Amino acid sequence: MKIAEYLNYLQKYFTNRSDVLEFASHTSGIPYSQIPMHLSDNILITDETKSKLDRVKSGEPLAYVINNKNFYGFDIYVDESVLIPRPETELLVEKALETAAGRKNLRILDICTGSGCVLTALLSKLENAEGVGLDISSDALETALKNLKRYDLKAELLCADALRIDELDLSNFDIITCNPPYLTEQEWSDSPNSLKYEPKNALSAGVDGLLFYKKLMDMIPNICNKNSGSAHFELGLGQYELLKNEGYCEDYSVTKDFQGIKRVISWINL
Ligand code: GLN
Repeated sequence: MKIAEYLNYLQKYFTNRSDVLEFASHTSGIPYSQIPMHLSDNILITDETKSKLDRVKSGEPLAYVINNKNFYGFDIYVDESVLIPRPETELLVEKALETAAGRKNLRILDICTGSGCVLTALLSKLENAEGVGLDISSDALETALKNLKRYDLKAELLCADALRIDELDLSNFDIITCNPPYLTEQEWSDSPNSLKYEPKNALSAGVDGLLFYKKLMDMIPNICNKNSGSAHFELGLGQYELLKNEGYCEDYSVTKDFQGIKRVISWINL
C-alpha cells in the first residue's frame, strides 16, 4: 500500500496526527518530517507492525511500543524501566539552562534521573559540564546509560534512594535538577490506564506526594555551590501552594507551564 493509504489506515489506532506520523516514521524508516514527501512510496504491513498496533490498541503508550520519545529535541530510548519523558519537564531543562547561561565546567546533579532525559539535554547543551545521575532503579540507570551513550555523553550514575541522599558523599554542584515521583496514591489510582504501564515508583510518592521535596529541599543547601549554584524541581498540580503553606519554598521562584500550572520551582544560591 502507498504511504498515503497507510496514514489513513493508522488513524483508527491513534487519537492524534502526530502519533500516526511517529508510528509511520518508526515502521517505514522515513524521518518524521520527510513523510509528506513520500506519500506515494510503497509500504508493507508486516506481522511485526501488526503486533505493535495490537499493543497500541490494548492501551500501551506509543513511546514504549516504538521505544522512543522525543524530549527537548533528543530522541530518548524508553521502555518500561522508566517514566516516559513529558513535555512539561522540558521546562525544568529550560530553567536550569537559564541559570547556567554562558557558564562552563559546571557540575550537574540530576536526582531521580530515570531515562536520563534531563541529564542528556543538559550535558549536551552545556559546555564541558560534568554530570551525576541518581536513581533508585538499576534498570532505569541502564536505560539512562543507553541514552547518554547515544549522544556520546558521560556521567556518573549512582543507584541510590533520593530520600537517603544525605548518606551519600555528594557536594559542590552548580545545577541540581529533580523530577521526583509526585502523584499522591489517590491520583495514581485514579490515573488513566496508560500510566499503569509506567513504573509506579517513578510516579507515586505516598499520601500527599510531597515526600521528596521536603526531604531534598532541607538538604539542597549542603550540596549546592554558592555563587549562583541552583536547584530546580518539577511539581505536580497544586503542590506549590501546599509546600508554601508548610513553609517550604520561601526562597524559590516559580514558573508556570503551557497549561498555566505552577510546574517548576528554582532556587539560586547567591
Ligand atoms: N507528570 C507526570 C504525570 O502527570 C508525573 C511525573 C512525576 O511523578 N514525576 O503523569
